[in-house]
Amino acid sequence: MKTYRKELWFEVPTRRALINITPQVDACLKESGIREGLVLVNAMHITASVFINDDESGLHHDYEIWLEKLAPHEPVSQYRHNVGEDNADAHMKRQIMGREVVVAITEGRLDFGTWERIFYGEFDGRRRKRVLVKIIGE
Ligand code: ZN
Repeated sequence: MKTYRKELWFEVPTRRALINITPQVDACLKESGIREGLVLVNAMHITASVFINDDESGLHHDYEIWLEKLAPHEPVSQYRHNVGEDNADAHMKRQIMGREVVVAITEGRLDFGTWERIFYGEFDGRRRKRVLVKIIGE
């Protein structure tokens, strides 16, 4: 069995953003040379997510509205976590959107449903953060 590990780095200039990272994960898969197996992709920070959904701008806008309803950023004083920081909402948004995804690899390709793409969800940006890509197989 072969294994492959890589960290992808992001520095989002805004507090929140959704980024399609499928091309970067695909590049890792090509680099690994693995044809059959599994890829795990996870955010290495507790205020960012990795998830799979549609690359459609209307949906991404809807996520922003929905997440702000569930865990509004303001007022920051509503959260007990916000003593000396202001990112309690980002922890909650990360919990809802998830930590990681696992995708099957078949014949050297990410074995997706038709509209599935991998996203990095940033909820407390403006600093360097990492995503882990781990691939196992042969
Ligand atoms: Zn925090």
